[in-house]
Amino acid sequence: MTTSLFEFCQSPASRLLPNTPLSSVECTPRATLFKHAQRLIFPAALIVGFTTLSAADVQTAADLRAGFARADITPDPRMLNWTLTPPRPYGEVHDPLFVRALVLSDSRTKVVFLGWDLLDAREYAVARMRTAISQATGIPAAHIMIQATHNHSGPKSEMGKEPGLKREMKASRPTQDGPAYREWADRLVTTCVDIVRKADAALQPANLTLGRAYVGEWLFNRRPVRSDGTVLTMMLPKDPYVLGNGLRFGAVDPTMNVLSLRDQAGKNICTLFHVPMHAVAVYSAYKGISADWPGRVTDMLREKLGGDAFFLQGCAGDIVPARRGFEAVEAMSELISARAAAADKAAAKIKTGPIRVSHAVLGLPATATAAEDLGREAIDAEVSVVTMGPLAFVTLPGEPLQELATAIQKHSPYEHTLVLGYANGRGVGYVGLPGGKVKGGYEMSEVGAGADEAGGFLVETAVRLLRNPITAPDKRGTK
Ligand SMILES: [Zn+2]
Repeated sequence: MTTSLFEFCQSPASRLLPNTPLSSVECTPRATLFKHAQRLIFPAALIVGFTTLSAADVQTAADLRAGFARADITPDPRMLNWTLTPPRPYGEVHDPLFVRALVLSDSRTKVVFLGWDLLDAREYAVARMRTAISQATGIPAAHIMIQATHNHSGPKSEMGKEPGLKREMKASRPTQDGPAYREWADRLVTTCVDIVRKADAALQPANLTLGRAYVGEWLFNRRPVRSDGTVLTMMLPKDPYVLGNGLRFGAVDPTMNVLSLRDQAGKNICTLFHVPMHAVAVYSAYKGISADWPGRVTDMLREKLGGDAFFLQGCAGDIVPARRGFEAVEAMSELISARAAAADKAAAKIKTGPIRVSHAVLGLPATATAAEDLGREAIDAEVSVVTMGPLAFVTLPGEPLQELATAIQKHSPYEHTLVLGYANGRGVGYVGLPGGKVKGGYEMSEVGAGADEAGGFLVETAVRLLRNPITAPDKRGTK
């Protein structure tokens, strides 16, 4: 089966960016973009991409401005908890959920980072938010990055009415059809519009600093490797620091990136902290509503550094907290917030250049089961890149394993490349590098709806966007 270029441009992929004029959408057969194209098993996979930059833009460096706002999005505890089978109400709230908006501007280009304490940022919800925010603020839809903390003790984002994967429909539809969910989902749109407006109105000159800290004590890769190279799933390790039976530890990046934005008087506007780790320390032991460890660290950082704090989730598909439960949340949040404060103190100033945003939407090859569920063989997946001087943010949809971030960083020409997962869509869900499916383990089962090569296409696309000759830094360094 082959999809024509025109048909693909009319596909749900192009609806991700509702305010994109059709004339600015460039459709290129993927075969021209990937050197391994001859190996493609899926001839209909295309890439839709556009950038908002030109050579002239690059000449005009401008000062950075930043504005932040947040709002409470805690649902009515009568909402059904999707983690329970059959779903039952959450019943109570342990701590509130928030949505946070950071608007960055170089006077010419604006970009929004919108982060919510939810499980995911599905394509339908992302498109709905982008349309509403763009209409209200004039900020282009493609410049609005929406990310979930991957919090399991709160709702999933809205999935829309289109048929999805059978497994997902079964788990999510009953919850999302409930009156408490419907009311909450509509309110989420107006709340997001409101805080982006506020953050936009609060824009002020800002300095950006970057520091790093080690948080490896709390990161556990739940895919330890057997001597034959296959993977064992270890959701809850008995002892996260010891493995038996000849197992080797899976890869972990123990680095926390800490980016602080301060006003001209040196007062903190917002501190971003970026760690790749599932927000699941609470949910296995508690069935009420909580923002899990990222919420607690955020509270502690607000106290330690002033201003606000904003968690950016990394590629955490295989990375979980070393220990679980509320006691663990307190201990890890104490350590992570103390290390973030220390990293902030040691941080170096980043000389930001013009803000540049580019993206591509891929049609990733689906597994046979997913293709049957969806009635099509490609699954939309957006990759976005935001750059400013030596700093690059890459967003990947769904649940990328840590190895995708490492591969992208290795080939990025930027001095500092932060890779975010759970952003701008669900894509194929769990996704690893090619060769992962035969290694096995939970993440490589049908919870990853992409065929084995899907993760390779995400990495290649991210690297291609990062190496865009118009914006990429001249100095070819690594990281
Ligand atoms: Zn997950």
